[in-house]
Amino acid sequence: MRESISINWRRIPERYRMEGTKCENCRKFYFPPRKVCSNCRRKGKIVPYTFSGNGKIYSYSTVFAGPIGFETSTPYIIAIIKLDEGAKVLGQIVDIDEKDIKIGDKVEMVFRKIQQYDPDGVINYGFKFKKAK
Ligand SMILES: [Zn+2]
Repeated sequence: MRESISINWRRIPERYRMEGTKCENCRKFYFPPRKVCSNCRRKGKIVPYTFSGNGKIYSYSTVFAGPIGFETSTPYIIAIIKLDEGAKVLGQIVDIDEKDIKIGDKVEMVFRKIQQYDPDGVINYGFKFKKAK
């Protein structure tokens, strides 16, 4: 499990502040961050960009059997969010029933505990989404 801790540590900027990148040449946004623009290749100018966390539900589904570490929190709703900047990100939708969700609903980022249980006692936090008011 040591490896997973170091991976989480390295990912903290993108998980805690939703840091991605954008290409100043073509204005394409990337999350997770990319170092090379897929449009412009070497002509691209990639700079850091912190996403607002605001977006719309692009698609969603309910997960009834979660991966290891998530068993205790099922069922939960996982969605692809199209951020206002255009990048798509996978995230959990919290504080809502599936019947109250529809595609196109506006959401905003919230900061929540991600795992209920970890063998090393590490609790991971990161972004999730809830319906915007
Ligand atoms: Zn570009």
